[in-house]
Formats: sequence, structure tokens, C-alpha cells
Amino acid sequence: MVSLGHRVWLWAAVGSTLAIAAFLVLPPAYVHLVVSQQPGGFAKLYLSEHSPYQRIVLEVDYQPDRAPTGYALDVLKARIEEYTGKPVDLVASADLMPLDRGWPRGQSLEGLGGWLRDLHLNRQTGFWGGNITIYIAFLNETVPPDIEVPEGEVVGAAVSADTIVVFAGNLTSRYLEATTLVHELGHLWGLPHEDDSHCVMASTIHVYSQLDEMLLPIDFCTESQARLEQLHQAWMFYFF
Ligand SMILES: [Zn+2]
Repeated sequence: MVSLGHRVWLWAAVGSTLAIAAFLVLPPAYVHLVVSQQPGGFAKLYLSEHSPYQRIVLEVDYQPDRAPTGYALDVLKARIEEYTGKPVDLVASADLMPLDRGWPRGQSLEGLGGWLRDLHLNRQTGFWGGNITIYIAFLNETVPPDIEVPEGEVVGAAVSADTIVVFAGNLTSRYLEATTLVHELGHLWGLPHEDDSHCVMASTIHVYSQLDEMLLPIDFCTESQARLEQLHQAWMFYFF
């Protein structure tokens, strides 16, 4: 027999246990399901020194016939370390099949991110902290005709909070490749375009000669640097 008084006490105990469980479970679920949708959504998680994520996995998946250059990956890794202040584990693997050999045609760019995550479950962003992953799908392709893009020759796009797609079929040198990677990293961290064509966040880059390519920007300009520094110092309570 349980008296009314006991019953109230019992439900209070059950209720508060559930409330504590919900608090512990919901924040990461919120982060992963809602914020992960748009570029910039993980900016503080990557950049803040108070983030629960203190190590960054840079996972580059490419097609066997076109590996990213060591130069471009070194530049990208250096930028990530410089602005996050965190160590970066670079993992590059030739595990994407060419589009005509089974790549999911008609797959949206956003869908690509989920597909990459499933490819290496062991390197996924940790649920409670620890590692946070940046995915790069490095395709030896130009933009597929069935995917709509805003204008001109697109060489890269940040497609979600943690995923960048590069269309290396349009990249003519390792310099342009490095610029593209750092530009998309900027979008991944929520940076907008800058007007100055000497900035890596310029919306359009004009390349007329090899010399042009060697002079392409590979670092952020003052405005972007200030924003990244702000994010680096941003206060965080666990995931917020
Ligand atoms: Zn852009």
C-alpha cells in the first residue's frame, strides 16, 4: 500500500529525474539536429576556447583520380589551428567513387554531408565534446548539371555546419585550391563575403594568368579576423 503522501513524493522524484535527464540529453540533440543544418551553425563550437570540443578532425574524402595537394591542405590546416587554437588531426582518404561509378546522382549537396558522416563513423563529432569534425568532399568534377548553383563557375561551397564540397574540376592550380578551401572554411565559420578582391572572402576571384594564381589571398582580412577572434573568445556554457 502506498499512501497519497508517498505517491506525491514518488512522482516528484520521478519528475525531477526526468527533468535532469532531459537537460542532459537535449542540448547535444539540439546542437546536432537543428544547428547543424546551416553553415555557421557550429562556428562557436569550432572556434571558442570554451567549447566542449578541444580537438578538430579534418576529414578529407576525395576521388582516387584527383587528390588534394599537400600545399592546399597544409594552408587549410594552418588556418584552422591558427584561429581555433586547437590541434587538428588531418585524415585524407581516396574513398569517393567518381560520379559515373555510383556516386548518388541527384543527391543534394546537403545530403552529401550525411553520406560522408556515415562513411567514417569512428571520426564523427563526439556527442558530448572531445572531437569535432570538418568534412570536405573533394570531387574531381565540375558542378553536376542536376544541382542548381547561383552563378558562374563554382569551385566550392559550404553546404552545412560541418561540410564543404569542392569541385576540383574547376581548380587550375594548388594556389586556387588553397584559396578555395580557406574561403569555404570562412563560410563554414559563418563569415560573409568581403568587397575587397584581395581578401580570401571576396565573392568572386578573377584568374587570368599563372601569376594571378600565385598572388591569390590565402588568409582572412581584418574584418573577418576580428569576427573570428570574437568567436574564439566567445563565452559558452557547454553547447550554448
Ligand atoms: Zn563565398
